[in-house]
Order: sequence, then C-alpha cells, then structure tokens
Amino acid sequence: MKIFVLVIVIIFAVIFLLIFAFQKGIIWQIFHPQKVLYLTFDDGPQENLTHKILDILRQEDVKATFFCVGDCARRHPELLQAIRNEGHAIGNHTMHHLKGWKTPYKTYIADVEEAGQWLNSRFFRPPYGKISLRQYLQLKKNYQIIFWTAISYDWDRQLSPQQCLHKVEAAARRGGIVVFHDNPKAEKNMLEALPRFIRMAKDKGMTFKTFEDR
Ligand SMILES: [Zn+2]
Repeated sequence: MKIFVLVIVIIFAVIFLLIFAFQKGIIWQIFHPQKVLYLTFDDGPQENLTHKILDILRQEDVKATFFCVGDCARRHPELLQAIRNEGHAIGNHTMHHLKGWKTPYKTYIADVEEAGQWLNSRFFRPPYGKISLRQYLQLKKNYQIIFWTAISYDWDRQLSPQQCLHKVEAAARRGGIVVFHDNPKAEKNMLEALPRFIRMAKDKGMTFKTFEDR
C-alpha cells in the first residue's frame, strides 16, 4: 500500500515538473511596467485581407505582430514586405500551418526552419497552440515561443463580432497578448471586432507594441 502511494506521488511529481518545464519558457503575457498590450494576427499574409488589417492599424496608429505562415509569405512576399514597411513585427507560424501533436518531430522542426527562411523571425507561435515537449525543447533554443492571454475566436462563424470582442476584452490590460486572425475564415468577425477592441483598449489608456520593440 505504501509503495502504491509512493508511486502515485512520484508520477504526479514528474507530471508537475514536466508541465512546469513546458510552461516556463512559453510566454502567455508580458510583464510590462506600462499600460502596454500586444496585438497579434495569425495565419497571414492573405491576398485580400492583410491590407485591410494594415489600413485599420494605420488609421488607429497601432503596431502589431503578424505570426505568418511561411507558405503564404512565399506566395505573397510583397504583403510580407508591406507588413514590415508599416513598422509591424513578424513571427513564425510554421511553413504549412502544422499541428504539432500530429506531426513527427523531425518533420515539424524542418517545417519551422523552412518557414524561417522566408520569415526571418525569432518569435514562434505553434498553430492551434499544439506542440510536443520535444518540439518545444528544440524550438526554444532559437525562438521565443509566444502563446496568448486571450483569443478572439474570430474564425468561428457561430459567433458574432460582439461575442468575439467579449472574448478578448479582459485581456486589454498591462502585458496582455491578444490573437486575431489574418485568415479569410475570420474576416467578417475580425474586421468588425478589431477596431472596436482597439478603441476600447485606448479608452482604458492602453498603448500597443510589437514583440520587436517591447
Ligand atoms: Zn494559425
């Protein structure tokens, strides 16, 4: 009986340590002394959408970080350049938007490295937020791994723009990291929720930075 309890305790201790090791290097929010928050856009660049986001950000005088898919950047280098020209930062979101848990280790790492040739970034966000411990341990040698404080779920067509806004409202605080999508699936919700989120955050006295200039 005693051995049984000991085994259970050891198993829990190992699980706890693994989770701790995993979480320690992943960024969920930034500890910033000022009222700064971080807008991020995943899945771009997209032919008929990226410019609409850039227009909103320019009108609101806000900078953001775009976690781009390498293959999209390969097809639209001019859009990647437009993002950079406007003072926004670029992050790596794999070459083919792979799901880490379902992709063999070597394939996944090679895919991220291939994307790196197009994106040239030290920031990485795994698609779907899914990454294995081994993939994570390798990638953290070369990248800051950025997750999020809140996701807008803007791709979900069951949700209204108001509901998407509601999902990220609470993250409009010091060091918050908010995710919208530069993805046609999210266009309708995102284009309406994004300017409202920015204005709501500004009303609270928040300013916006990219990960490059944090
Ligand atoms: Zn994605």
